[in-house]
Order: sequence, then structure tokens, then C-alpha cells
Amino acid sequence: MKIHQFSVDEALASLHSRHEGLSAAEVEHRLREYGANRVEQVQGEALWLSFIREFVHFFALILWIAAGLAFFAESRHPGEGMATLGYAILGVIVVNGLFSFWQQYRAERAILALQKLLPQHVKVLRDGKVGLILAADLVPGDVILLQEGDNVPADCRLLEAFSLRVNNATVTGESLPQARDAVPSIEENLEHSRNTLLAGTSAVSGEGRAVVFATGMHTEFGKIAHLTQTAGKTRSPLQREIARLSRLIAILAVTLGLAFFLIGSSMHMSFWDNFIFAIGIIVANVPEGLLPTVTLSLAMATQRMARRNALIRHLPSVEALGSATVICTDKTGTLTENRMAVSALYLGEQLLTPTAVHRQPELAQAYHRFFEDALLCHNLKETQLDGKWQLMGDPMEIALVRMAKTCLGEIRGYPKINEVPFDTDRKRLSTIHQTPTGVVLYCKGALEALLPLCTQIQTATGTAPLTPDARQDYLNAQEDMAGRGLRVLAFAWRMLENSHNAPAQERDLVLSGLVGLEDPPRPEVPEAIRKCRAAGIKVIMVTGDHPHTAQAIGRQIGQVQTDNPVVITGAQLRRLSEIQLRFVLDAPDIIFARVGADQKMRIVTALKKKKHVVAVTGDGVNDAPALKIADIGIAMGVGGTDVAKEAADMILLDDNFASIVAAIEEGRAVYENIRKFLTYILTSNIPEIVPYLAFALLKIPLPLTIIQILAVDLGTDMLPALGLGAARPEPGNMARPPRPRKERLLDWRLLTRAYLFLGVMEAIVAMAAYFYVLYSGGWHWGERLTGPEPLYLQATTACFSAIIVTQIVNVFLCKTPGRSVFGAPAFDNRIILWGILLEIVLVIVIDYTAWGNLVFGTMPLAPDVWLFILPFALAMLLLEELRKFAVAKWKRWTGTLNAG
Ligand code: ADP
Ligand code: MG
Repeated sequence: MKIHQFSVDEALASLHSRHEGLSAAEVEHRLREYGANRVEQVQGEALWLSFIREFVHFFALILWIAAGLAFFAESRHPGEGMATLGYAILGVIVVNGLFSFWQQYRAERAILALQKLLPQHVKVLRDGKVGLILAADLVPGDVILLQEGDNVPADCRLLEAFSLRVNNATVTGESLPQARDAVPSIEENLEHSRNTLLAGTSAVSGEGRAVVFATGMHTEFGKIAHLTQTAGKTRSPLQREIARLSRLIAILAVTLGLAFFLIGSSMHMSFWDNFIFAIGIIVANVPEGLLPTVTLSLAMATQRMARRNALIRHLPSVEALGSATVICTDKTGTLTENRMAVSALYLGEQLLTPTAVHRQPELAQAYHRFFEDALLCHNLKETQLDGKWQLMGDPMEIALVRMAKTCLGEIRGYPKINEVPFDTDRKRLSTIHQTPTGVVLYCKGALEALLPLCTQIQTATGTAPLTPDARQDYLNAQEDMAGRGLRVLAFAWRMLENSHNAPAQERDLVLSGLVGLEDPPRPEVPEAIRKCRAAGIKVIMVTGDHPHTAQAIGRQIGQVQTDNPVVITGAQLRRLSEIQLRFVLDAPDIIFARVGADQKMRIVTALKKKKHVVAVTGDGVNDAPALKIADIGIAMGVGGTDVAKEAADMILLDDNFASIVAAIEEGRAVYENIRKFLTYILTSNIPEIVPYLAFALLKIPLPLTIIQILAVDLGTDMLPALGLGAARPEPGNMARPPRPRKERLLDWRLLTRAYLFLGVMEAIVAMAAYFYVLYSGGWHWGERLTGPEPLYLQATTACFSAIIVTQIVNVFLCKTPGRSVFGAPAFDNRIILWGILLEIVLVIVIDYTAWGNLVFGTMPLAPDVWLFILPFALAMLLLEELRKFAVAKWKRWTGTLNAG
């Protein structure tokens, strides 16, 4: 016989376990014998493989070919310095490969570290006490408690279940939820038995208690894990765009190289000069280090987001976040603290406070069913923490239990024998209890959800029929409390003959009263809402709560600012056609109240059709489809179910709305950083190409050697570029509307600024420095200089040094693209500062040491050359300031034009 064919007690006995769970000593013993409850990760790509990969990708291949050609040239025509060039290019491949590998490695480590931030917990019964432990610490024989939304952490056999249904899709492929209970099964196959829960699946409704019979690799899921773990890494749209873009740039480089080679040949340049020239063009234009920098800057952004309590599950959502235009947010727990306290009661047509009831024991007596309802009708678990008994679960239910205890004085608990679970569509929960006077059903939930089920009301002396007047009184009392921002719940009860067929028993109830719960807004939320407004992001509240409560809270946090916000209830939403709904979504302040989870999905779909980039929050099982369909699905880390977390792109570690806004800020920064980085590295291409153009067209000695180009691209430029890619968000970042989704990373604005403005200025400075040295050394136009003449070496050194000086200036220009350098803190980015320091050290080593002179073909420069370069560099700074100023003016002018 297999475990699912046993009775409950036999099943427990076969695992040497008991109803109250294992003892600590047994757990320790079993953990040693059976190991941690973990499915082994299939080995990712070996480290050495990804190392090799850095040397054989597209750019590397171009460089290998270039090096090969150089060595080939050396063999055919020794003594032209071709071997040095070959070695230099090999050096480039090595430096670039190592650097990329290091960045990739760091990025991967960063992502791995994030995964550890959200371990999975399980409610387990050990020594008769409920505790929360890591899923990895489960052992066979452990008794666990599961409820709606929980992942099943190991293979287990049910001991008890209330309306439990599971989704087995991950293991068996069946996508419809299936009912589960504790009855022994005659089924041969374990997977299909009604009393087994399989690791890797999830509970979609109800609750249950079960004993674990297989953990880790022994589970059915563990056995097929190697089949389902797909090793393939998905690349984000941004990474794909970068890959496409850098391929484009590389092809451009090769084409340019070939074109210049042809021009050179047609101008009767010597073949070898021409050859150097073509390779120089190619090497100057290949964007080394572009891809890994993008990956790293994405990874660093996700790390910063995690520090601000937003955990990214998929890298692509980082950029989607940056372009978000709408946030659909829950109210309870996200906008509010979810620290509930009962502040009003409505009993027998009177509005009371809990303390008032406490002073009137006869009231508590007359309405004892009401208080029993508050005490019993919940899904809380009692657990022992530091020797004290505590309740674990929904804060609202905890507040109700607490209220019942203060009002009732003594505590009367009756065992729960059945329940009809809560969900956002039913908006009510019923539990059935064995009391001394018989079986009682207690129900609590939204008044609208209870009223249709009630036929009577509770009075001080007994029960009375629910008349239309009484119904109206209740509705008025609810409006009243909701208008003050309270969350209102109604209570009802009924005596039953038996506990069978619980859902059908929710009828002919006695309405016993209302409670109003206070749930203050989170203090950070109003500021976050204000930021969203400034950033052009619309905030829509989507709640299951009463419209008046929602509106009152909306006003408190500033989400509602107009006098007549659009408040749509679930019932109204159902009647709206798709076109009507889209019109509704144009309103400035929108609240959806009393909506179910399926309607959340409808709202998200309509927003997406309106070309919005939608972020949506959710916590329950029913929210999963909306989370999946949204551009950014956001699950609650504290109050959210495992199912919601799995469907989400991002998880809020603190459930706080303000953390969404922080994540959007970081997401915007990523995109901007990559643009800064691109501008910076593209700029230096121009002063690297112009010398070759001048060499070919003006017939002057070559002002910059290939090795010097490589020194700039792979030596001095690398770290500052990385610093730009990893910068923190800029202050003005949330004062702008969201970036249009179709906006390209590399557009003509960026290209003209980098190539035609900054690049041209750098080229002018570099060429000026070159001619300055030549002319002050007595050179005259047309004079041929070749090889190791000191004057020539000094002149190329001046050209090279001028590029580096202007690139140092350029980092600051690129750092704050939208505003003045003088208005921004200059020294806030550590990587950039280290990068500049490294640049300075490298220049000194290259220009002033014998070794540097030998390798890079340089000569020490006299101080007057530096003095000559400096004013030019300053002029570059000022011209860019002028440009920014003009652009800002222009924007303001066109802005007023549009406004007027
Ligand atoms: P919210 O958007 O405020 O989180 P929910 O969808 O969770 O709203 O709940 C919707 C309504 O369902 C609540 O206003 C309340 O009336 C009712 N409700 C919420 N939680 C419970 C519960 N645990 N038991 C019974 N009713 C509940
Ligand atoms: Mg809720």
C-alpha cells in the first residue's frame, strides 16, 4: 500500500510522526539523514565557458581578424611595425575580454544575491506549536499548515482540509484547480490521488494540514526538475537593442575602414600606410565593453532597487518600470499601514466604541453571537514566539479578535469544523463551529456581500425580521463610517443542523452588527503620490473596499484632488462597455471600489489598449492573471501569497507604495545612464578618426597612432564610462513625464551631440595641440616626418594627451546631460572619480616614463603644451554650458507656446 491509500493515522504512523508534529531532536536527526528540502539547481554555464565566450563574440572576432592581418603583413613586409600593431590588438582582446568577464561575473553575482533576499517560509507544527520555518528545513514527517496562495513546499499527505483546491499545472500539466481532501484514496497513481499535495504546486483556495512524506530531490518535482529547469538566459529588450546597436556600429566601423582603404588606394597612398589606416579606423570605432556595461548597469540598478525594498525578478522589468505611465494600486497594506484597530461598532441601531461596550457587560451578553463571530471567524494561526502566544495572519482579523477579547472579557473558543473560504470576489468568510448549544455558522464580510443572505437582524432581546427600514439603517451606518475612512465589516450568524455542504448553508442568516476599522495611510505615501504627479504617472486605486472608505483615504493621501473624483464600483464596471471604460480612464482622479480580481485584469487590459505602460499591484491568488498581463506586475512581499509572487515581475519587500515610486526612479535612471555612457564613448571616436582623415586627405604626418587610440578606448575611457553607467538617479529625474516607449536608446539627438558637437570640439583641441607642437618645433606645412623623430613623437603625444584631457572634461558634461555642470555636485560618483584618477596616472605613465614612451610611441611633453590645451578644454566646457542653456530656453519658450 502506498501512503495515499492509508488512513490518516496510519499515514502518520508510517512516517513515525504524530498529529502535533515532530520533536526538535527528531527534526535534527532527519535533517541529517534526508538533507535539506531543496531541489538541486542544474549547473549553469561553467565559469570557464563564459570566460571563453568573452573572447569569441562578434567584436572579438573582428579584432582577431585585424590582429591576424597585421601579423600576416609583418611576415610579408617585415620592419614596418606591423608586429607591434598585432600585439597591441591582441592586448586589446585580452584587456577587453577580462574586463567584460569581470563585469559579467559581478552582474551575475548581484542577481544571485538578490534571490537570497526572499526565502520561502512554511508554517509547520512541531511539538504541538505552530512556527514559521524556512522551506529548506522541512523533513519527512513534518506536519505543515497550508492555506490559499501558499506554495506546496514538499510532497505531502493531507490530514485535514477545508475547501482545499490546488493547481498542479507545474507538475502534471493540468491547469484547472482540483479539490483535495484527507480521505484515503483507492487511486493507484500517487500524483492523481485526492489526498496528496505535490511539491512545486500551489494551493489556490481553502486550507489544510498535511504530513510531509518526501522532500528535496525525493519529491516528484525533484525527479523531473532537470527537465523543467531551462538553462537559457533570457535577454531583456534593452540588452537586445544594445546588441543590435553595437553590431550596427561594428559593421559601420568595418565599412568605414574599407571605404577609407579604397580612398587611400585611389590617392596612391603606400599600401602599408593605407593598411594601418584602415585598421585604425576599425579599431577606433568598435564599441568595446558596451554590452557588459549595460548588463552591469542593469544589475547595479536592481541592487539599488533592492536596497529601496523593491526586488526585481526579471531584468527586463527594470526598463519597463522606467517608462511606466500608470500605477494601479491596492489600498489596504500598500497605501495604508494595514495596522488595523477597531474604532466603531454598530449594534442594535447604536453607534458605539469598543470601550463603551466594555463598560456595558449586558450589551456583550445580548450580542454574544456578534463578538463570537469576531473571535472565531478567521484564518489566523496561533503560534508561540519568545514564550508568548501570538496570532499570525491578516492584521484585520487580529484586530477583531483583540476587540472581541476586550469586549467579552472571558474567552470562549469553539472548535472550527468547516469553512467557506474568503476571496476577493465573495468578499466574505464563513466558518462553522461546534458550540455547546449546537452547530453555528459565523460569517463576516462586506455588508453588500452579506445583506442578500440575511433574513433577520439581531436585537437586544433576540432576533427580528430584516425589514427594508432596518436594511436602510445598516446601509446608512456603513456610509457614515466609510465616510470617515473606516473599513466596514458586517457580521452574521445562523444555527445549523449539521456542518455538511458548507457553501449552501450561507443563507437565512441573522445580521448581528457592523464594525469600523481604522487603517491609517502610510506616512511616506503622500510624498510618493506627489512625486508620481510630477513625473506624469497616474495613480489609480483599485480596492475591494467600500467606495466611501476608498475616497476618504484617497483624499488623505492626495490621490484624489478634484472635487468629483470618478468612483466606479465593481457593479458599475460590469455594466460599462469597453469603450465606456476607456473614456472613464481619461479622468484625472479614478478610484475603483468593491471590485473583484477578475475586474482588475479588465482595467489593466483597457489601460494597455490605451497605450499605457501599466504597473499593477496584487497579493492574492486571484491577482495572478492581472500581475502577469501588466507590463510590471508587483506582488507584496509581506502580505502577498506565493502564487502572486511567482506571477510578479517585482516584489515589494515592505508592501509600501512608496517603494514602487523609488523603483521607477531607479528604472528611469538606468535608461538615462546608458545614454550618458553611449554619448561619452561615442564622442571620442571623432578625435580618433579625424587624425586619420587629416593624414589621408591633407597629407600630413599621422597625428595619432593606433596604439594610442587603443590606450584611450580601453585604458583611460573604460572606468569613467562604467561610472556613468552605474550612476544614481538624478534629482530632476522624477520631474519629467515618462519616456515614450518607442523612443530609441541611440537616436539622432544623441548622435549629433556626441559626434557633431562634443566630438568635433575634442577633435579641434587634439589637432590644435598637434599643430602647436609641430609649429613651435619649426615644422612647416608639407614637411615629411616619419618614425622616431622627437618632434613627431611629441606632437602625437600632444594629440593623445589632448584627447584624454577633453575626455576628462567630457565625463562631467555627460554626467548631467540636462542641466548645468555648475549646478550639480561634481564629486558624487566614486567610480568616475577613480576613473579620472586612473586616467591621470595613465597619462603620466604613458607620457613621462621610459616604458610608456617605448610602448605607446610617446615623448615627455613640455609644460607649455598643457597650458596650451587647458583653455581649449575650458572652452569646450563653456560651449556645452551655452548649448544646455539655449536648449533649456528653447524648451521653456516652446513650452509656453504650447501652454498658451
Ligand atoms: P482591499 O482592496 O481593501 O485589500 P479586499 O479585496 O482584500 O480589499 O477585500 C474586499 C472586502 O472584502 C473588504 O472591504 C471586506 O469587506 C471584505 N474582507 C476583506 N478581508 C476579509 C476577511 N478576512 N474576512 C471577511 N471579509 C473580508
Ligand atoms: Mg486585501
